[in-house]
Amino acid sequence: MALRINPLVEKTPLSGIRQMSNRLPAHPGAVNLTVGQPDFPPPDEVKEAARQAIGQRATGYSMNAGLPELRQAAAAYYGNKYGFRYDPVSETVITAGGSGSMDAVLRTILEPGDEAIIPVPIYAGYEPLIRLAGATPVYLDTRRTGFIPKADALEKLITPKTKVVIFNNPSNPTGVAIPKDRMDRLAEVLARHEVFILSDDIYSENTFDTPHQSFGAYPALRDRLFLIHGLSKSHSMTGWRIGVLFGPAEVMQHIVKIHAYNAICAPTPSQYAAIEAYTGNTKAPEKMNRAYIQRRQFITASLKEMNLPLVRPTGAFYAFPSIEEFPITSKDFAIRALEEEGVAVVHGSAFTMYGEGHIRISYAASMDQLEKGMERLGRFVGKLRGDTRTIVPDLPQL
Ligand code: PMP
Repeated sequence: MALRINPLVEKTPLSGIRQMSNRLPAHPGAVNLTVGQPDFPPPDEVKEAARQAIGQRATGYSMNAGLPELRQAAAAYYGNKYGFRYDPVSETVITAGGSGSMDAVLRTILEPGDEAIIPVPIYAGYEPLIRLAGATPVYLDTRRTGFIPKADALEKLITPKTKVVIFNNPSNPTGVAIPKDRMDRLAEVLARHEVFILSDDIYSENTFDTPHQSFGAYPALRDRLFLIHGLSKSHSMTGWRIGVLFGPAEVMQHIVKIHAYNAICAPTPSQYAAIEAYTGNTKAPEKMNRAYIQRRQFITASLKEMNLPLVRPTGAFYAFPSIEEFPITSKDFAIRALEEEGVAVVHGSAFTMYGEGHIRISYAASMDQLEKGMERLGRFVGKLRGDTRTIVPDLPQL
């Protein structure tokens, strides 16, 4: 076709996560450890609230920023937990998933020529959104610092062109949460520089060793800070599309326009259900975390047996072991593991090129699947090393 589309869009790759999961239908019986989809059902009370909303025909548009009652509930839920106060009317917007928040913030603040600092490896969604805005990603390499962004390294990257520093805490793909002392130092640096801060805390409810530490707890950053939360992971509601964005009123009035022109509003029946998730007593995150902690133990032990180096994951539900010893790309590793042994993981290079030499294993899958998957991965690793011995991981004492 002679008509040209936006070359920035033409150059945008499909998410590497989907590139792998899309291969699965061709491999029936394969173990899927690719997507960040919790294997738990959403809480019953939440499903019931959605049924009631649909029954009462509460299915039309809501206000662009979301149902006032939901904004109130979400601001109270996260604010009480993480020590910040955002006004539910002017500083809270309900978006279509955390993805809707990412898009609305970045399109609102980025201009062509801007720089956006991202700690890498990072979730596949950020680099494309930065580039689509005509801005340039600047990479804060965390590979030698246990996947934790270091304050002095960050400060060196800040230039007059820096518009935003992005964090994802706990991190997808590494599973690492930023400890409080490191956050304090990052916050000191950020307080000294006039830049926006976007912290994607979609996994805030999934921390296993220490409570989640939020940039929202630092008053000096407040009028430049955006926080992304949501129900996709914490309540296993990925398809319901509920994201929650907090930010300073002055900018949120513009962000809501982008959200409105893109989505008008988040799905209304889901918004009614979300009120129940925030105000009811589901304990869903706690229940899931108990399972994730057992699975983490299993995955960690299995990878150790396979001799694949791993930075201990402290949150989210991912492990990101190194496969650097093998003379193949992470993508070839992932494709071959699927085709030859029937276990699907995501190649590290899906999380920027700084993820090369790693694979991401999602342990938001049942123990049964994880056992099978790790056995297959062990077999594949053994084969690559020319070792025919099968590595059978020990089962954890549950
Ligand atoms: N941010 C991160 C770090 C994620 O891992 C994901 C989903 N995998 C999202 C945002 C998007 O979440 P949602 O489904 O709520 O749009």
